[in-house]
Amino acid sequence: MFSYRHAFHAGNHADVLKHTVQIATLQHLTQKDTALTVFDTHAGAGLYRLDSEFSEVGGEAVDGVQRLFDAEALEPALQEYVDLVASFNAGSSHKVYPGSPFISQRLLREQDRLKLFELHPTDTRTLKANVAQLEAGRQVVVLQEDGFEGVKKFLPPPSKRALLLCDPSYELKSDYGRVLDMVGDSLKRFPTGVYAVWYPIIPRPEAHDMPRRLKALATKAGKSWLHATLTVKSSKMSITATDGKRPGLPASGMFLINPPFTLKGALQKALPQMAQLLAQDRNASHSLESGG
Ligand code: SAM
Repeated sequence: MFSYRHAFHAGNHADVLKHTVQIATLQHLTQKDTALTVFDTHAGAGLYRLDSEFSEVGGEAVDGVQRLFDAEALEPALQEYVDLVASFNAGSSHKVYPGSPFISQRLLREQDRLKLFELHPTDTRTLKANVAQLEAGRQVVVLQEDGFEGVKKFLPPPSKRALLLCDPSYELKSDYGRVLDMVGDSLKRFPTGVYAVWYPIIPRPEAHDMPRRLKALATKAGKSWLHATLTVKSSKMSITATDGKRPGLPASGMFLINPPFTLKGALQKALPQMAQLLAQDRNASHSLESGG
């Protein structure tokens, strides 16, 4: 059922956007002492090797995080991202890439909790083995469950403070609708939660509708929102690969509901630099919108 494996894409431009936003959001949320729960509805394997057989097929980190390792004078949010990725690697080697579960875990305090949902049996096995190395005890829980459904039973969390990160592969067209249903339902159960949804910007109506509908959901609930996009190349080029390489994703977005108030300012600086450093052609650009 799931042919998508995140290892092919680990460290690509979409991960740079998603994980930079994740880090900046968590750094803000962990400033307050009250316990925080992070829900990762689509966790993946947790850790990836950038020199593995998987990533060499796509080699997408080369045009993603690898470009930032070589860059100078990074904006603060991007520098935090690069530093966090580098902290998983010894010396100057860049062989390990942390996925969203390990990024969260690195930033959590003793009182915080991390709940990881992953359905793919192989990825769940790998994730469990990776998490076991942390010896984090009950702080980190891996659930081999449907994240869209499974998260419901935990909302609202006891401390009433949580980040819900939703990062499906959108391999199934129904994922777009399921994201909207899950966010709509979660906002009713837990209106003050911070919601962060990643999505691909591809020539498919559902992909263009989703941010509009998330905006409508947030507005109807009277919540603030932030919408960031990063484009690295024209979408036309990515449909037919001209150079014999696998066509890659041209752009992606992050939509947040109840974002930390500091995030917009951080992204106003970081996004133009991301677009500049990760550009694959002259169509590279970014956008940042907020409301509520
Ligand atoms: N969030 C991860 C990161 O940033 O490192 C990457 C996640 S990857 C884009 C999406 C993952 O969701 C895949 O590992 C896939 O097996 C898993 N998956 C697909 N459908 C799922 C579902 N309904 N519930 C939980 N996991 C699912």
